[in-house]
Amino acid sequence: MFSRTIFLLVGCFLFINAPAQESVPVSVDEIIVNHVDEEAARAVLLLEKSVNINSGSMNFEGVRAVGRLLAPEFEELGFRTEWVDGAPFGRAGHLVAHRDGSGPRILLIGHLDTVFPVDSPFQEFEIVDEHFARGPGTTDMKGGNVIMIQALRALRAAGVLDDISVRVVLTGDEELSGNPKSLRSAALVEGGKWADYAIGFEDGDGNPETGVIARRGSSGWTLSVSGKRAHSSQVFQPEYGDGAIYEAARILHTFRTELSTMENLTFNPGLILGGTDVEYDVAANRGTAFGKDNVISATVTVTGDIRAVSLQQWEDAKQKMREIVSDHLPMTDATIEFDQGYPPMAPSEGNYALLDIFSTVSQELGFGEVRAVNPRNAGAADISFVANDVEMAMDGVGLMGSGGHTLDEVADLRTMGQQTKRVAVLLHRLAELQ
Ligand SMILES: [Zn+2]
Repeated sequence: MFSRTIFLLVGCFLFINAPAQESVPVSVDEIIVNHVDEEAARAVLLLEKSVNINSGSMNFEGVRAVGRLLAPEFEELGFRTEWVDGAPFGRAGHLVAHRDGSGPRILLIGHLDTVFPVDSPFQEFEIVDEHFARGPGTTDMKGGNVIMIQALRALRAAGVLDDISVRVVLTGDEELSGNPKSLRSAALVEGGKWADYAIGFEDGDGNPETGVIARRGSSGWTLSVSGKRAHSSQVFQPEYGDGAIYEAARILHTFRTELSTMENLTFNPGLILGGTDVEYDVAANRGTAFGKDNVISATVTVTGDIRAVSLQQWEDAKQKMREIVSDHLPMTDATIEFDQGYPPMAPSEGNYALLDIFSTVSQELGFGEVRAVNPRNAGAADISFVANDVEMAMDGVGLMGSGGHTLDEVADLRTMGQQTKRVAVLLHRLAELQ
């Protein structure tokens, strides 16, 4: 009885929408849009379930539990799923899913973890009012995962899911990634080499009018400086030199004067320790220093980060920094080490083309234009590991809201249906491209 009522209602709806004089077949786009609307409550329920499982990056059991919640969602759509064990990189692991189809190969990227540990006061999904919901990881990015699943469901409902080949990588350590980076990002890199296009379901800058087609890469650096320990009365004498602290000051000042004008490049020393002896605890980001005013300093440690918009800029900046470091003051020595970090996603022509298709789809659906977000407002993310290997990549199509990474993370549930419809129709357009 119940299903018959629904059938009749749907039938009426289609009839009302058709022009009076003749019956027009319902388009794929219309079926997608209707299906997303029909499943609006399902989407919020799936979001609620996944937010209520704590999955702070170091809560391995919780991260796996979110994986166990989502894997059947993909399996039900005909995906093969596998759990990539995170033990080799010291994290929970990743959920990977594949589904073969006839069209272009598309990689969809999400993550299962959040920044909220198991002892955080922020643990529960809570409806604030008819538009907003609060909860850890609602926008970053359990909402994005739900949008991905709901968009695939809409494509199946419209009978067009077979027109694309899909691989999904939901990492378990995006917020606090494991090491070595080469192992933790292997599933992503492999997906990027396989795929023609890649789409990331992060929440971008929280604005549905923007898409992310460039992200700056970021990595850490450590500057280690040494000088000759001697009585301060001898400083600047050729045989005693300038000391480690003057050398570190020279290096940092020269970084600032020579590199700070490079557009979209930033570098920031976050910690400095100097004196006769320093002890630096890397894991705790803290240390101690001992020195006396009448002794030429013997050692300095500085740590910082660097963010660049393209691989070229990244390499140019690192090269320049190495040159500056090696131009030593008398009787001092210095080295700089860069860790592997997150590579940049450059604003390529392909990425602009994908944004263009997305923007056109958005306008066709009545949601307005989509423009590129300023890369300075887009931090590093998993899509960066694949962006250089695909023809087109875009991120930031997830659930929108505000307060990510804080106890005030709030999702705008109105963007759930909007984003799902835009993504589903985008995937359908990509199938038609080939
Ligand atoms: Zn995220």
